[in-house]
Amino acid sequence: MRPDADLLVLGGGCAGLSLGMRLAEQAPAAGRTMILEARTGYTQDRTWCFWRLAPHRFERLVARSWPAVAIRSKQRSVKVDCRLTPYQMLEASPFYAEAQRSIDRSQHVQLVLGTDVRAAPRQVAGLWQVETDAGLLTARHILDTRPPRPPRTSDATLWQSFFGQEIECAAPAFDPETVGLMDFAEARTDDVLFHYVLPLSPCRALIETTVFGPRPLAVADLAAAQAAATERLGRGNAFRVLRAEDGVLPMGMTACFPTPGPGYSRAGLMSGAARPSTGYAFQRIQRWAEEAAASIRQGGPPPGHEPDPALRRAMDRLFLRVVRDHADRAPDLFIRMFGNADPARVIRFLSDRGTVADCAVIGSTLPLQLFLGEMLKGMVALPKPLRETA
Ligand SMILES: Cc1cc2nc3c(=O)[nH]c(=O)nc-3n(C[C@H](O)[C@H](O)[C@H](O)COP(=O)(O)OP(=O)(O)OC[C@H]3O[C@@H](n4cnc5c(N)ncnc54)[C@H](O)[C@@H]3O)c2cc1C
Repeated sequence: MRPDADLLVLGGGCAGLSLGMRLAEQAPAAGRTMILEARTGYTQDRTWCFWRLAPHRFERLVARSWPAVAIRSKQRSVKVDCRLTPYQMLEASPFYAEAQRSIDRSQHVQLVLGTDVRAAPRQVAGLWQVETDAGLLTARHILDTRPPRPPRTSDATLWQSFFGQEIECAAPAFDPETVGLMDFAEARTDDVLFHYVLPLSPCRALIETTVFGPRPLAVADLAAAQAAATERLGRGNAFRVLRAEDGVLPMGMTACFPTPGPGYSRAGLMSGAARPSTGYAFQRIQRWAEEAAASIRQGGPPPGHEPDPALRRAMDRLFLRVVRDHADRAPDLFIRMFGNADPARVIRFLSDRGTVADCAVIGSTLPLQLFLGEMLKGMVALPKPLRETA
């Protein structure tokens, strides 16, 4: 029986579309790909930020590029000049549109919107069967980018929960040259709360209330802190809310979701895309998409995300556990890291490009006793890589 597709991609979000647009540019020899997406259309539901360490394929889509970021605690503030590696923002909407355009031009990649995958795919006679609300589909390979399940507290060492609003103030309130990367002015002691400010103009900014905590939080849990932040950071000006976004990102996955059989792989936020110490995933998804497209071009299956190298995994794990167990110390840790090490090293480290020397220098800025104490609590063992075997 001829399957409906060689590759069925479940979920047409950032990961599914990133792979889809690359496959659309490749020769049809890569086989027929169908991307199934539950949404009936895309909206401006998020912004992706990252440091630009090298030229990238989305330069044309960059909406803002900042030369500086600031980290502020109640005691100290650090402003980091990052002109050489600017902090950039991509809006999701033009990304989705670009991916759709490139897929629409292709004969061998198809994006099917408004199609909900209902049951767990099953393997029957060597093919994968996927039950959708539009009927049964079959494929040789499955790439599943959906979150395997709603987040459970025990799935990650920490959770990054955030609620952001893009606001427009009646009078200037923001420095359009400097991103407020972490503003700990309203820090708490039982979890790590800070505000993240992307200034879009003197009067307009995306202000996000972010919590690093042991459990995923809902928007309602963050709403009061967000209201106080918009008032304070908007300098008491009248403002209107233009749009909102929210999310829950895993920081250090502890759950590992098995794949149900050969020819089935997983990718995306809950399957290894998120950098443990930051929750950032966009650039990691782009790197994975390049590798996956190359593997498919050579006749192989789409791989999952590469596990992080051992040193990075160990550092991220230690850092997350210190932050989890000593939330009150977190503002000082971030200030020390950005303020006492060459910021270029920190930016490289956070962007997965850190060298051993970068790791050593960053480590030397942090309070030794605190970290040694956490290590002694039995956390020296490396976490298992999260890559799934088919
Ligand atoms: C608001 C927000 C802001 C973020 N900002 C940043 C940032 O600044 N920098 C950064 O690096 N990372 C950021 N991230 C993290 C990460 O980059 C994004 O979450 C990214 O979208 C993850 O891609 P993904 O493909 O794994 O998940 P998604 O983009 O969420 O895609 C998953 C897709 O699967 C679909 N789906 C789910 N269930 C089904 C089903 N049953 N059938 C069919 N389709 C289904 C969903 O509709 C969705 O489109 C942010 C995340 C959020 C939520």
